[in-house]
Amino acid sequence: MSETDIDSLQFSILKDCIAQRFLSIHHRANNEQISAGSKTRSKSKTARLQARAGTAIKDHSTSGATLPDVDNASEDLADPLDDFATYLAAETWDALPPSLRDLAFSTTPIPSYTTPASLPFSIPPTIPDTLIAYSLASDEDDVQKFIHKVVSTYIDSATAPPPVWKATRTEECEICERQVPLTYHHLIPRSTHDKVLKKGWHPEEMLNSVAWLCRQCHSAVHHVAPNEELARNFYTVELLLEREDIQKWKKYAAKQRFGYKWRQNREY
Ligand SMILES: [Zn+2]
Ligand SMILES: [Zn+2]
Repeated sequence: MSETDIDSLQFSILKDCIAQRFLSIHHRANNEQISAGSKTRSKSKTARLQARAGTAIKDHSTSGATLPDVDNASEDLADPLDDFATYLAAETWDALPPSLRDLAFSTTPIPSYTTPASLPFSIPPTIPDTLIAYSLASDEDDVQKFIHKVVSTYIDSATAPPPVWKATRTEECEICERQVPLTYHHLIPRSTHDKVLKKGWHPEEMLNSVAWLCRQCHSAVHHVAPNEELARNFYTVELLLEREDIQKWKKYAAKQRFGYKWRQNREY
């Protein structure tokens, strides 16, 4: 893939969708107590990943964990989630037809692929190896489903209208701290309000508390937990930031380049 492609907004979106999917599976895997699988990632793949990410990476095969760990916060060189998402996004991007690489808000008609089998490209052979090595898929069917979900989310995100810059004192996303257009997240999602009141989880005056999040962080939050769990246990930004997966996401999102692009383009 070309440098221009790597710099494109579409590539950033695809990469974010992969990172979000990763966290969502990680979350489920933790809940289900899935034991660590085998680590068969080859050196050549690591080397390619390293070249593409343009940064030093940790050798996951010796880390003792199937999924990338949160490293201590002072370690700036390696971000396993970023490396993983960059590698997988590059592999997927190369397989995408041009029509899917050029998606934008103005795209009509918006493509829709309702089943894994209907995807208009074939999955590169490196992807199953990687997903299985990371225990993100257990067979070819799972791989198809993973890529289908990623591509569907990518299509939705890439064709969505750009977020409006909200008039508020908060200028930075409350999770990744990038100065980008913000959306608001109901910390107690609206769909849960009836239940929250009935069960007395929170007083009524708390129902409308919101967090100002960039679209990517907002989406990540909804990937790591269902609405009811968010309402019950993660009803402040502080509580969200205590989650290991949100910390991983924060570290990943804070360094994504399209955040910087927004910052540069912003007019004061
Ligand atoms: Zn953010
Ligand atoms: Zn939300």
